[in-house]
Amino acid sequence: MDENNLNEEIDRLSNELLEKSDLLRSMRRGEAERCDSASIASAKTEVKDLNRRLGSMLRRRDAGVKKDEGVFDRVGTESLMKRRFFVTPSFEIYGGIAGLYDYGPPGCSVKSNLVQVWKNHFVVQESMLEIEGTCLTPEPVLKASGHVDRFTDLMVKDTETQECYRADHILKAQLEKIIDDPATAEDRKEDAEGVLAVLDELDADDMDEAIASWDVKATETGNKLSAAFPFNLMFGTQIGPSGLVKGFLRPETAQGIFVNFKRLLDFNRSRLPFACAQIGLSFRNEISPRAGLLRVREFMQAEIEHFVHPQKKNHAKFDSVKDYSLALFPRRQQLTTRTTVQMTIGEAVANGIIDNETLAFYIARTSMFCEKVGLNKEHIRFREHLENEMAHYATECWDLEVNCSHGWIECAGLADRSCYDLQSHSESSKIELSAREIYSEVKSVEFLKALPQKGVMGKAFKKDAQLVMKALEAMSEDEVAGTQSQFDSGAESVSVKVADGRSFSVTKDMISYEKGIKKESGRNYYPSVIEPSFGVGRILYCIFEHSYYVREGDDEARGVLRFPPIVAPIKAAVLPLSKNEVFNPIAARVGEALGACGLIYRIDDTGASIGKRYARFDELGTPFGITVDFDSVNDSTVTLRDRDSMRQVRGDIDGIVQSIFSMVSGTASWGDVEKIFPPFSAAEE
Ligand code: AMP
Repeated sequence: MDENNLNEEIDRLSNELLEKSDLLRSMRRGEAERCDSASIASAKTEVKDLNRRLGSMLRRRDAGVKKDEGVFDRVGTESLMKRRFFVTPSFEIYGGIAGLYDYGPPGCSVKSNLVQVWKNHFVVQESMLEIEGTCLTPEPVLKASGHVDRFTDLMVKDTETQECYRADHILKAQLEKIIDDPATAEDRKEDAEGVLAVLDELDADDMDEAIASWDVKATETGNKLSAAFPFNLMFGTQIGPSGLVKGFLRPETAQGIFVNFKRLLDFNRSRLPFACAQIGLSFRNEISPRAGLLRVREFMQAEIEHFVHPQKKNHAKFDSVKDYSLALFPRRQQLTTRTTVQMTIGEAVANGIIDNETLAFYIARTSMFCEKVGLNKEHIRFREHLENEMAHYATECWDLEVNCSHGWIECAGLADRSCYDLQSHSESSKIELSAREIYSEVKSVEFLKALPQKGVMGKAFKKDAQLVMKALEAMSEDEVAGTQSQFDSGAESVSVKVADGRSFSVTKDMISYEKGIKKESGRNYYPSVIEPSFGVGRILYCIFEHSYYVREGDDEARGVLRFPPIVAPIKAAVLPLSKNEVFNPIAARVGEALGACGLIYRIDDTGASIGKRYARFDELGTPFGITVDFDSVNDSTVTLRDRDSMRQVRGDIDGIVQSIFSMVSGTASWGDVEKIFPPFSAAEE
């Protein structure tokens, strides 16, 4: 097939795949003509087959295209992080525990700077509320949120050693090995591509079948694997001495905000929209955390819950971001060309790629935050979730993905959670977590109510009947009218979604309708929630990989961390020229001036050569170095060195400290400082 034919075939398959995936999506939502499980299964097979064929075409198209290899240096970065005690495995002297890490002094400092920038960027600049909830969470809260029943991953075990593996991870590794092996036949590669494309869809039975047919074995031993079974990722515990109150360590901070919604709304004087943030630890008992800091069992999240009227998701400050351009990876591109598209956030909303201004506003602000903290914009993108990966509560979701040596990693999720959480906590706690909309004048309104026929429903749905009745009663009038018109136009049944996400087929004899007129001054409604959720550790790790490079020195190559000043753990190193005591009072004076401005500094009077001492601080990402020499003793001037350009200027102590302050707070650049102070040249030995 020549290049033109290949591209035409890719287009044809892409369009067909899009069409079939849309159909599958509407079947799952109960909106298609045929939604029974046999039709869904056959649609799934078609999508899988199309993916398989398209994958093979794309592989042919991209053969020979250079990959991003060698851009990031994982070994260099991680060995520096460990050597300079940014992070270390927890309880190392006892052999360590997978998925737990301690932050050492510079790591702790970078992390706290990162969190501070996040707070300023979101909480302060967007006037958000902030709370601090507890990590210990009683069971009913996480039952209502769906975590007790659904927060699971499929797991398999080595049948001999009992070593645990995440089923999708071990299957994926095997499929990729097969695809990358030049000896594998083309049609086998195609089959493997097909399974990879639907990995998120596999239930326990599908997984067992795939593991058997692709001959997946335990990674370390090559032993046979057990059947796949769901494993809940929450750490369970008991609260109090009686052992009767079951609880969990929270798997996300979000729930702490939802359960306080009523108080937050009061605090905000009943006005919407408003956003509330929470920064804190979350805990997930990850099955086999093997990706270093990227997949850990205890990690810091920074989450925002933005509460908004479901029909008014515009954002007052959208204009301020609409011209911001970024790389988006929408569903269509993932299914077709598999390349990102560069566009402004305004275009993305105008073209319906991102559903609403509020979600889009946060996507743009998230990207700006990434730039501020030192992530390379060329290596970040926002990927829309495919239908099959979306959490049960979400209606739209975009992940901030950052490219690093591990590939594209999800560092934040931005989801439209609709009103799922507030509604289910209201039902479960019996405390109404709704907001009230007051009309400008009292309205006489027609009402239309769906009255569930309890007897018929009870017989048909048994223990689920209550859930379906509640869903009918909670329907908006538009939704009720929608069901009525479907029956009027001959439908035998309508699909009704209940609080836990399942859909039920409700027939005409199960509902009667009541119409009338009533006076209304306002109405209660459940706000929608737009949630940006950040993993602090993942962002931090990517900043390290994006910042690390090796600088060739005269005698040896040295690692440098190119942290932005605002993130750097130590802002300035103060270096007396030698161990001569005459420099000590000046070095102390410089230190005091830096400290008085809140700038963290270290005096290094170890007597090693200036070049060696600079190199030590370059490894810690220290952006500025101040040298105290004999001229300093006479005229109180010092030299200031910029880590990245290695250029130097000379000036009086107060002026130099002020300029560091300006560069750290982002109001001046090194270029600005070079315009104020004369250059200084001295070799770094
Ligand atoms: P999620 O609630 O799964 O969407 O997670 C929200 C964010 O938390 C993700 O985007 C990650 O940045 C972070 N995260 C989730 N799981 C882990 C983990 N095991 N280790 C580190 N960060 C995580």
